[in-house]
Amino acid sequence: MKAPRYVYDFDEPSDGGRELLGGKGLGLVEMTQLGVPVPAGFTITTDACRAYMAAGGELPDGLEEEVAEHIKRLERKAGKRFGDPSDPVLVSVRSGAAVSMPGMMDTILNLGLNDDAVRGLAERTGSARFAHDSYRRLIQMYGEVVDGVDAHRFEQTLSDFKQRRGVPNDVDLSADDLADLIETFKRIYDEEVGRAFSQDAREQLSRAIRAVFDSWNSPRAQVYRRTYEIPDDLGTAVNVVQMVFGNKGDDSGTGVCFTRDPSTGEQGLYGEFLVNAQGEDVVAGIRTPEPIERMRTSMPQAFEQLVETMERLEKHYRDMQDIEFTVEDSRLYLLQTRAAKRTAAAALKAAVSMVEEGLISKEEAIGRIDPSQLDQLLHPMLDPKAVFEVAATGLNASPGAACGKVVLDADTAEERGKAGEDVILVRWETTPDDIHGLISAKGILTAHGGMTSHAAVVARGMGRPCVAGCEGLSIDLERRVATIGGHEVPEGEVITIDGGTGRVIIGPVELVPPQINEDFQTILEWADDVRRLKVRANADTPADAAKAREFGAQGIGLCRTEHMFMAEERLEIVREMILASDEDERRAALDKLLPMQQSDFEGIFEAMAGLPVTIRLLDPPLHEFLPPLEQATDDRMRQRIKALAESNPMLGTRGCRLGLQWPEIYEMQLRAIVRAAQAVEERTGAAPLVEIMHPLVGFAEELRRLRELTVRTVAEEGGIEYLCGTMIELPRAAIRADEIAEHADFFSFGTNDLTQTTLGFSRDDAEGKFLTFYLEHGVLERNPFETLDQSGVGELMRIAIERGRTVKEEIKLGICGEHGGDAASVAFCHGLGLDYVSCSPYRVPLARLAAAQAALAEEGAATYVAAGR
Ligand code: PEP
Ligand code: MG
Repeated sequence: MKAPRYVYDFDEPSDGGRELLGGKGLGLVEMTQLGVPVPAGFTITTDACRAYMAAGGELPDGLEEEVAEHIKRLERKAGKRFGDPSDPVLVSVRSGAAVSMPGMMDTILNLGLNDDAVRGLAERTGSARFAHDSYRRLIQMYGEVVDGVDAHRFEQTLSDFKQRRGVPNDVDLSADDLADLIETFKRIYDEEVGRAFSQDAREQLSRAIRAVFDSWNSPRAQVYRRTYEIPDDLGTAVNVVQMVFGNKGDDSGTGVCFTRDPSTGEQGLYGEFLVNAQGEDVVAGIRTPEPIERMRTSMPQAFEQLVETMERLEKHYRDMQDIEFTVEDSRLYLLQTRAAKRTAAAALKAAVSMVEEGLISKEEAIGRIDPSQLDQLLHPMLDPKAVFEVAATGLNASPGAACGKVVLDADTAEERGKAGEDVILVRWETTPDDIHGLISAKGILTAHGGMTSHAAVVARGMGRPCVAGCEGLSIDLERRVATIGGHEVPEGEVITIDGGTGRVIIGPVELVPPQINEDFQTILEWADDVRRLKVRANADTPADAAKAREFGAQGIGLCRTEHMFMAEERLEIVREMILASDEDERRAALDKLLPMQQSDFEGIFEAMAGLPVTIRLLDPPLHEFLPPLEQATDDRMRQRIKALAESNPMLGTRGCRLGLQWPEIYEMQLRAIVRAAQAVEERTGAAPLVEIMHPLVGFAEELRRLRELTVRTVAEEGGIEYLCGTMIELPRAAIRADEIAEHADFFSFGTNDLTQTTLGFSRDDAEGKFLTFYLEHGVLERNPFETLDQSGVGELMRIAIERGRTVKEEIKLGICGEHGGDAASVAFCHGLGLDYVSCSPYRVPLARLAAAQAALAEEGAATYVAAGR
């Protein structure tokens, strides 16, 4: 049998694509093919990583030999030898998975240097300073990444050293200073690791490759994968790339650049650049880089080449690119190109402009938007009417406003965030190790770093507001105090940040919901043209209904009438109704509620004129309207609370069981609906499209009786046009959907309860209890209350549809559980052939887009796959 092949040169075609070579490897191969200047090198495949992991950390047979072969090829191209003491070729070892995970795994630069080669490098380049700087970086990075030396030890030593020399920046250290530093770093390495720093270039390379494979399973990479639902078994590729040096002097440098602004999507180069530096300096935010425009004057030739190359790359990929580059002795090299991470606003603008530019089709534009990212645009902004004083400003690194308590480290952010507090993570700069804190914070504020610093990139990806590089910010970790624009703000005090403008305000500021802008509107209209699923909203008030309509809802799929009972002045009457000792007393209380409920319905019908409104009759267990026992005001109330108490109220006296036991409650609600519809028709001349829905039906007999009650009551009120249907939210209802369909004009899947009852997971408790454990330990990949459990709950839906249609072929079908606003679940509902999904008003745009993507995917068009970019 032929041994599997694990290594491909950048100039060798392979069939494996992104899955095999990783995003970075594939980009290097494609750029090589396009004739874009990239350094020589090769990719070790993700197959090798998977084999390494499967063997418990052993490199697969034959890999070392293949690497040795490819090093030889690299040496031939470079005209230099790896490990040669007089003129060494150096390499970097870079991770690169199929899915972009920026900064989550490891990279090691300058491999191949040792005590002899550093002298050779100094002689060949004529710069001892450069050679020494490269060697000290290798010892530091290799120590940290390969042998787990505490990064702090090297950083502290470097910082003390600079202080002793009285210089602020690394670049101010002389060749001799750096030679001293190398000795100290080697001593630290020896002390921490228990042996001397390896002088053997091949051993360095082999251990570095293993370390990058291992970094696939680092805690931060695991957290990142869980957040973005990236499978654990993909593994990373490893790219071995000939080093080019941005730290060789003033005609060298390094930078990152986007083909369009990643915050706004505006066309034009957008990026940052550092003269005489290596890439890690930019990403780590150690030195604050300059805007890319400056390069036009400082390195005109390389700049021109950069502009031309980026245009070519964007045309080739037909998508916004994010590149890393290095200029060595005025020569440009690209080290990476990938589809740029962008804010939702930028994604929309870029997609719309690319259609206008003729680069992509409308369908492709729809496919380019991550539906779950749209949430960002529907996040709060500072109230334009609010009056406040700006304490400091920084870069507008990721849009949206956030208000929360200052926390000064990632662990505290996670702890307090999980406890339900709104926190803003305030740091000098963030590193990939802070990922759990970034996830838990409402916003991020940093003192250092630019638009491409770690905090900025990650925040944009997650849709968290972020202000970066805020010069007026300093942090005293010992005293746990931040100073913002000269004001001391102890940890725990509230600040507000506006990631759209870079403003930082001490104290809370009123936030307002944003509007849908023009690009957003354009994409949604294109989406509406291709989708088949209708999108309705879950709305219980006229205000919510109006908001839903503004966001494009095509009706209300669920109006929960109990929410109308909760208002303070009504709760009293509802309690009167519940505490009533007989039917007369109960009816008296209900009579008082009727006009209130009627006026709510009128408001909703008017807001939704011309569109269907599904009103669900009372559903929750009655005790939800009563105070806890200890707050009972008298004996009667105490008795009643006790009498109504149930061990499992979610499986108790709720839903249609209430309506059957106390029909006068549903009668009141039905009368209110009919009277409201009649009043609105009289006022506006148009009859509302009323759909009356009964909750928690499990037996056909329940719905038969309730339909009878409905028909009789509506007739008693003088009649209206309406549909009468039921929720399908119990497994039995799904299984016996044929019998139930006899009495239903429509089914609406209540997948919140259907998930609860199918899985036996309490919707109130599971998420705070074992479900977190399940998700963290991979027992389940997704929270079934967020993303539909397609093979379990989804299968019941399929059964219900199939059986329901045997009795009523044209039965109307919808979903109104939370899943109606989840992109993957919307796609599933499209596949099931539902008529509509219904979700909260703010998710309506997401559902419109997801429904369009589902329709396009059915036709075979490529659409956004969260894990595929
Ligand atoms: C459901 O159960 O999915 C549903 C929509 O109803 P509720 O959340 O009100 O129980
Ligand atoms: Mg329900």
